[in-house]
Amino acid sequence: MDKRILIAEDDPISRQLVVTRLTRWGYETLQAVDGAQAWELLQQPGAPRLAVLDWMMPEFSGVDLCRKVRSEKQQVYTYLLLLTAKDRKEDLIDGLEAGADDYLIKPVNALELKARLCVGERILTWQDQLMAARESLRFQATHDALSGIWNRGAILGQLEAEYARLQREPGFLGVIMIDLDHFKAINDTHGHEGGDIVLKTVAKRMLLEMRPYDRLGRYGGEEFLVFAPGCGLEQTVAVAERLLQALRVSEMALPTGSLRVTASMGVSAYAGEIGVSVEGLLRGADAALYRAKKRGRDRVERSCFEETRGRPASPNAALT
Ligand SMILES: [Mg+2]
Repeated sequence: MDKRILIAEDDPISRQLVVTRLTRWGYETLQAVDGAQAWELLQQPGAPRLAVLDWMMPEFSGVDLCRKVRSEKQQVYTYLLLLTAKDRKEDLIDGLEAGADDYLIKPVNALELKARLCVGERILTWQDQLMAARESLRFQATHDALSGIWNRGAILGQLEAEYARLQREPGFLGVIMIDLDHFKAINDTHGHEGGDIVLKTVAKRMLLEMRPYDRLGRYGGEEFLVFAPGCGLEQTVAVAERLLQALRVSEMALPTGSLRVTASMGVSAYAGEIGVSVEGLLRGADAALYRAKKRGRDRVERSCFEETRGRPASPNAALT
């Protein structure tokens, strides 16, 4: 736990008294002599998360500070303890309503201060654990548990977002649909553990070949989806060839023996053409992938414009 604490108190004698105690208890203190200085310190990146604020101070009062801190959208919670000479109930309620977590009435009893700070630390620890749990849930919701890359929902969401961005700033967007060759045979020969190792190794090898702004996701069982911002069709084909080469270049080692893994890849791309949607891009890449399978696997095929464009409603459709 972070042992830094901010003490904001305009009276030098009271401030020194609190600082001496806090230091003795193992805290590292930051001191502010008025409300403005306290506010400045609280806004610094990595500011202390525990703060003891005197109520009556020049510039901003302790209550003003509570209000200001709470009105900011903070990533991490700051625990605010008000010191006050006021003992009228309604004032204390004002302080709590302004966002103080707790208060102490002056003159401060040392043991009580220590106990209240322990409560503050406990709450901050809970807060950290909650944040960590939330972050872990967010990761699980967007990532494939086996390979650690984006899952289907997340990669499609990002593809949609990139496509939407291109409606405002024209540019290119390449899509690669990837399907491992003969994966069922790999599972049959090497078991599902072997299959899992292959999937993980494939993801790792492909990631190493990608630019930081390209995205790789697991689209289905042995299917992967890549999108490459800024790449037209030929550039995306080059990316796909590089990914395929990274797979076939050397054998993958499994406990049951090693094997060479290849994939079939279908590429489509968007350059602002009217009538080409995200669905169209996926349909085009899928059609090209199907062609790659049919033409012998372990290869990259490109989609044609007709495959990516929305099927136009032909007035003569019924006649042809
Ligand atoms: Mg004061």
